[in-house]
Amino acid sequence: NSFDALGISPPILKALEKMGFEKPTEVQSRAIPHILNQEDLIVMSKTGSGKTAVFGVSMLQLIDPGEPGPQGLILTPTRELAVQINNELRKMSRYTRHRTTAVYGQHSMDAEIQALKRGVSIVTGTPGRVNDHIQNQNLETSNLRFLVLDEADRMLDMGFLDQVVNIIQALPRNRITLLLSATIPHEIRRISRKYMRKPLTIEI
Ligand code: AMP
Repeated sequence: NSFDALGISPPILKALEKMGFEKPTEVQSRAIPHILNQEDLIVMSKTGSGKTAVFGVSMLQLIDPGEPGPQGLILTPTRELAVQINNELRKMSRYTRHRTTAVYGQHSMDAEIQALKRGVSIVTGTPGRVNDHIQNQNLETSNLRFLVLDEADRMLDMGFLDQVVNIIQALPRNRITLLLSATIPHEIRRISRKYMRKPLTIEI
């Protein structure tokens, strides 16, 4: 039971070691192999289980930092979570060339546009702001092949579902989609049926 055995590349392993992650948590060892195998996944688990590294490590492993345009998009309900996830991604990518950024409401649009223009591999954001950037063509969607819907039930509770659907419809169909949620209400189940490819559910 090690990150090495999951097939994670040396620069990411080194970063995880520096973060003090000695071995994968249960959700990490169960979910990461499926994602690296390019399967869509529904992960039912709470914060504290190590779910950020589930998608963080997998995205860094699958995304080529040399390719132009963002390839990974993480949607999350709050700006605090967006910042926190982006910080964790930055630590995990310490020894790789991936660049990441966070976009969220009540943050400088100009600063975000500059960051997006410099070129990033992974964008983490709240649905409203991500939609704004897509509509204003600040966020190029044509290379996005990895979508994460984090805390999907909270995005639903906060009334973001229409925004989320709008974003999904702007993305290429050929992509990996991960959905993380503590619970799977009816509306979330419908989204997963409509926009995911035969997702496996992992419940921790
Ligand atoms: P999360 O559920 O992603 O919010 O993670 C909860 C906490 O566990 C965070 O502080 C992570 O940095 C930490 N964490 C995640 N994975 C591991 C791991 N494999 N070993 C040690 N700590 C971890």
